[in-house]
Amino acid sequence: MMERNIAIVLAAGQGKRMNTVQKKQYLLLNEKPILYYSLRSFENSSRITDIIIVVGRNEKKYVQEEIINKFNLQKVRAIVEGGKERYHSVYYGIQSAAEILETVETKDNNNYIWIHDGARPFLSEEILVRAYKGVCDAKACAVGMPVKDTIKIANEAGYITTTPNRSLVWQIQTPQVFEFQLVQRAYSVLIEEEATLAERKLNVTDDAMVVETFTNQKVKLVEGEYKNIKITTPEDLQIAKVFSESKT
Ligand code: C5P
Repeated sequence: MMERNIAIVLAAGQGKRMNTVQKKQYLLLNEKPILYYSLRSFENSSRITDIIIVVGRNEKKYVQEEIINKFNLQKVRAIVEGGKERYHSVYYGIQSAAEILETVETKDNNNYIWIHDGARPFLSEEILVRAYKGVCDAKACAVGMPVKDTIKIANEAGYITTTPNRSLVWQIQTPQVFEFQLVQRAYSVLIEEEATLAERKLNVTDDAMVVETFTNQKVKLVEGEYKNIKITTPEDLQIAKVFSESKT
């Protein structure tokens, strides 16, 4: 019975911080849409068996024609529509993964979900190898890097309250990889308790946080790469252009 490794690639964000008409995940880097690069990394990785892409309303046709068909991607099983917040998009992706798993023969406890920001094009095979080891060891892992700058925690008035020990502060990237049933359970509780998030001051910005908050599972940190940036603002796009033109 074959283990399934399903990548959920998120591309349903608005990209408002980029200030462009075209959404950031479809901007071109070296003549290819940003979203294409991470899809290719998953496509080329022997561990990954299936890819689900989560897109905005009315974008399915573009992604099918201009990315999947054009670059002949073979592992994409579904393109689903995302939701208002990132976590809604992930939830729909997990539902789509559940549908795939119902149709294939696998052991229940032996499938992994890889959640990745489509706005992170520089996803290397080395990162995928480390993340796979991480999830096999710990059932849940998130890729990240130790911070370079000192981090401060501020209060709402804009004054510093504390300074965490820099050697223990990580900046989190994706992919974040989880056993299927664990992440499915965590996201169902999140959606059930969604109405209470604001009063609990829970601003859900990544997947590890959902597992940390709604299950007892500890999430292991795995080293990513400083190059594995998320393209968010125009400055990031300039950096990404330099990376995409260099060969490594
Ligand atoms: O907004 P943020 O920078 O955290 O987005 C990270 C990734 O999540 C991006 O690739 C974006 O397209 C995706 N996203 C999504 N659905 C949303 C918001 C963000 O798929 N509602």
